[in-house]
Amino acid sequence: MLDNLEVKKALSSMCNTMYNKEIKDCNNEELYYAILQLTKAYSNLIEEINGDKKVYYVSAEFLIGKLLSNNLINLGLYDKFDEVLKSENKNLAQIEEVEPEPSLGNGGLGRLAACFLDSIASLQLPGDGCGLNYHYGLFKQEFKNNEQRAEKNEWIENYSWLNDENKKYKVHFGYGDVTSKLYTIDVPGYNGGKNKLNLFDIETVDENIVYDGIKFPQWDINKNLTLFLYPDDSTKQGRLLRVYQQYFMVSSTAQMILEELKEKNVDLHKMNEHAVIQINDTHPSMIIPEMIRLLTENEGFSMDEAINVVSKTCAYTNHTILAEALEKWPIDFIETVCPQLMPIIYELDNRVKHKYGNNEKINIIDNQGRIHMAHMDIHYGFSVNGVARLHTDILKNTELNEFYKLYPEKFNNKTNGITFRRWLIESNKELTKLIESKIGSEFKKDSTELSKLENFIDDEEFLNDLENVKRIKKVELSDYLKETKGIDLNPDSIYDIQSKRLHEYKRQQMNLLYIINKYQEIKNGNIPERPLTFIFGAKAAPAYTTAQDIIHAILVMQEIIKNDPEVSPYMNVIMLENYNVSLAEKVIPACDISEQISLASKEASGTGNMKFMLNGAITLGTEDGANVEIHELVGDDNIYIFGKNADEVIKIYQDNSYNPKDYYDTNKDIKNAIDFLVSEETLSNGGNFERLRRLQNELIFKDWFKTLLDFEDYKTTKDKAFKDYENRLEWKKKMVKNIASSGYFSSDRTINDYNKDIWKLK
Ligand SMILES: *Cc1c(COP(=O)(O)O)cnc(C)c1O
Repeated sequence: MLDNLEVKKALSSMCNTMYNKEIKDCNNEELYYAILQLTKAYSNLIEEINGDKKVYYVSAEFLIGKLLSNNLINLGLYDKFDEVLKSENKNLAQIEEVEPEPSLGNGGLGRLAACFLDSIASLQLPGDGCGLNYHYGLFKQEFKNNEQRAEKNEWIENYSWLNDENKKYKVHFGYGDVTSKLYTIDVPGYNGGKNKLNLFDIETVDENIVYDGIKFPQWDINKNLTLFLYPDDSTKQGRLLRVYQQYFMVSSTAQMILEELKEKNVDLHKMNEHAVIQINDTHPSMIIPEMIRLLTENEGFSMDEAINVVSKTCAYTNHTILAEALEKWPIDFIETVCPQLMPIIYELDNRVKHKYGNNEKINIIDNQGRIHMAHMDIHYGFSVNGVARLHTDILKNTELNEFYKLYPEKFNNKTNGITFRRWLIESNKELTKLIESKIGSEFKKDSTELSKLENFIDDEEFLNDLENVKRIKKVELSDYLKETKGIDLNPDSIYDIQSKRLHEYKRQQMNLLYIINKYQEIKNGNIPERPLTFIFGAKAAPAYTTAQDIIHAILVMQEIIKNDPEVSPYMNVIMLENYNVSLAEKVIPACDISEQISLASKEASGTGNMKFMLNGAITLGTEDGANVEIHELVGDDNIYIFGKNADEVIKIYQDNSYNPKDYYDTNKDIKNAIDFLVSEETLSNGGNFERLRRLQNELIFKDWFKTLLDFEDYKTTKDKAFKDYENRLEWKKKMVKNIASSGYFSSDRTINDYNKDIWKLK
């Protein structure tokens, strides 16, 4: 491909065209836009990946993060731009800071979709993403008065990664038609070739209707449809808007797929031989009835034919067993949004009832008139997969057991993964280089090569280099937080990090109770061996009150400790503002201890756990999601496991035998920490009585996710991890073991598994 000289010439000419300036006279912003335009131009020259069969990964979320580095790396241009810019006294890392981050997803599920697109293209499989072009995506988080405020996140600028494809589709809503317009973002693979991310939008969206953060009139679909990702689902209008978004996404996608198949002269009766539609959670489930509708209404299919071929084309991925996250839409919602789907859904429901009798556990339409989207996917798709071994086992044996008995052949597991291109090569260049110096660069294409690092587990020089890399990343994070937020971190302290969406099942509140307990210990003269830094990053859904209360309590603890000179030399709490992909890329490489402390059975897989492991952090976690597989790979000595396991937790729920008040009454540490939530100290450091009292009551009297059940074991295990950290030699060996064992969690492996068992693309 291009050499440095050609890159320099191209950049120089782009700067000249755009700004009439030389490279050296451009500022970082100008350089960013110039490199963006060049990268898009290079990507334009790359061939699309083709094949006889293609996967359409349909997802309401693609948490792609910034794309400049990622695309330069995959196009093989990163080092060249880096060197050229250096020679002009410019810094590519600083230029990247200019890029606005597209936050088209909430968390793990959306980030998984983004990692998958990268891996599908890098494995040179034909496969596109299909989703929505949210103008503001997920909100931007700001802290004010120790509370979260939600602001809009602007990411679409005059120059952006979006390409206007000049393609339009008509989507019919109950109130009238809207025109769907297709934008795409190129997804270049690491080994050449490219796929696309298709993002649908309407032209009449009006950004000016947004006020006071992220509020907007919820009834005007023509103006608000693609403004935000999943707006407020605490009101009926909010939930309706969500169904409008979903139908808009799947109707556009189904029409685009049919158009592509026709262009390839495919006999639509054999659609399943040329296309596979992967339904990412239930948000795109309506693609099943929509595709059936299009085939019967426009393509001359009988109902039997349409149902038959669509069932052989669609595959469903389940991401959660949390009841509140399994979508069930009332019939009148569908009647309002897309009434034309109801006859099809009734037909699908009748066939199930006719075949299996009226069984509420598997009905599509239940006796309260709600449509169970997952049930429709399982009956009318050919594959059902969970996202980690434990999760799939729970689906088979408990949650979806009734379906498993009917269709055992449909169920399969695909343990999640992450793209090492972003989560190692891009975000931890120092570690990448160190690994390369030991085992060569083959691991960049075949992640299992990382296991060769085990050969160096007794190599003292390597262990010291590894420690140095960790230290460099800790200092880097500390400098960044100092510069951007005025926050002081001590790089000689232990960085204990929990960064992920805020949810009670993930149990940030348990970490908080530990922190309060540690604070009280220090006040009592029990000083930790080494200073401790507790870092959180988490956004909370704006309408999720308990989550807002937990953020508030963490921010108040941060304040208390900062203001207490007796404690601040020994411990520090930092709640990072606006945790997103770019921040994750800075935080994860700096981590010593990775907090993965969800209530067992509740975290389907987790992918944060994998990113931390890959970067040499040691996991402190429950036997949940992919932690189970991490545990198995690294062995007992290289992970800190605590808490009740999934079987025990499921039994406790069944027996209804958990009473948090018992733990509060009998465990002094628990009582003291919970009592502290509403105390002179919290209330005089910006604490809000109503919030803190509510959180206290939540923990003592409800605690649905059993924080207090696991607290004691958590504390003992965490204290042991901090103690073990002092045996530096042994700790560094644990780091090696974790990095060396992480190859399994590459999303390249996951995608190979999807392809082998479900998609069968080539
Ligand atoms: C990986 C990632 C997540 C998922 O983290 P979990 O710990 O698996 O919940 C969420 N948000 C961002 C920004 C991520 O990069």
